[in-house]
Amino acid sequence: MQLRVLQQCPQCGGEVELAETDRVLNCPFCGVRHILACDTPRFTLPHVNGPGRLLHVPYLRCKGSIFSCHLQGVEHRIVDTTLKALPLTVLPATLGYRPQAMKMHYAAKELAATCLKGSISKTEAIARAAALHRTTSTDRRPLLQEWIGESVSLIYMPLFTNGNRVYDGVTGAPLATMPEGRDIFNDAGLQGGAWQLNLLPAICPHCGWDLRCRQESVVLLCANCDTAWQQTGDRLTGVEYETVPAKGDDAVHLPFWRLEVDFGGIAIQSLADFIRLTNIPRAIQPEWEKRRMAFYCPAFKIRPQIFLRIAAQLTSGQLPGSGECHIPAESVAVSLPAAEAGESVKLILATAAIAKRNIMPKLPDISVAIRRNHLVFLPFFDNGYELCQEEIKVVINKQSLELGKNL
Ligand SMILES: [Zn+2]
Ligand SMILES: [Zn+2]
Repeated sequence: MQLRVLQQCPQCGGEVELAETDRVLNCPFCGVRHILACDTPRFTLPHVNGPGRLLHVPYLRCKGSIFSCHLQGVEHRIVDTTLKALPLTVLPATLGYRPQAMKMHYAAKELAATCLKGSISKTEAIARAAALHRTTSTDRRPLLQEWIGESVSLIYMPLFTNGNRVYDGVTGAPLATMPEGRDIFNDAGLQGGAWQLNLLPAICPHCGWDLRCRQESVVLLCANCDTAWQQTGDRLTGVEYETVPAKGDDAVHLPFWRLEVDFGGIAIQSLADFIRLTNIPRAIQPEWEKRRMAFYCPAFKIRPQIFLRIAAQLTSGQLPGSGECHIPAESVAVSLPAAEAGESVKLILATAAIAKRNIMPKLPDISVAIRRNHLVFLPFFDNGYELCQEEIKVVINKQSLELGKNL
């Protein structure tokens, strides 16, 4: 479920409707694009005019794919939930249908004085959401559990307190009665501090051209000076990339993070090591003993089973790089940040392995240090329904790419 957000365009003042996971505001009125720069997005639900004091209660919203590794293989589940970020029992445990029934706003900094402080960290919220979604029918503890593509945001629910009565700020309906003589919200404390959403113009820092992006893009491309950029704090920093040229004209380039890794706890350095340990049925070429192993992770969001399949196929296939830095004419937007790709290395190893017994028991003790991570645009042939990578025979249904944008 993708929640909707209203945000004013800083250029023309028009009110633009966004999805909660959008990273770029693409104004339909003035055509100007801005990058939504914030650490954890904070949203508010609109409130009625209620009696007494207005307060906002934080709920943590967790969305993403959770992967659990067991001896037999990797299981996955999509998680989409909200959890109360405060242990106040008088308040509902979740927001229910409220956020789906209305459009949220990015929380304005002026609201900080009415926002209660959450007592659950982002990490704890993710762990709780994972526990809610046990991915197995039994209570087996997974050997490894990873979240990929997770987005954690805060949604503030408005409420009013008047004496010891608490009212739902969205509907105005009575919600609870506080214990006599005790203001439980004073005990919780206020968030305070400054929080601000920064809107950065999507303009190439190198040549000043408009950057190419879609609303879900986390990497923006300049086709004028052939550079790629990502938001780091309140500025744009360069992203290293290469493009493998297409053979025909009908190609669409898909972005992948190519990771070179230093492993601890398992002896994988070269491609030959990887093939031997995983037992992938490929004849090891002598030069593979020297070729450094690289992992390929989709740099776009897609359903978990497809994500793992593509990653394992490309990692086992190992297309040679091109070293060419040329922004492709047509490409799928990069919507998965580099940091997320790093978390997927052990999952790709576990999925690619034919000999699961060689890999799975070792997973908890394997350490992964990313030596180099850069974007690779790979050409796919578009046959109308599917995109096909002809060298490695990877096929991706176009509809699943479209649906992935809502994850
Ligand atoms: Zn505008
Ligand atoms: Zn440029």
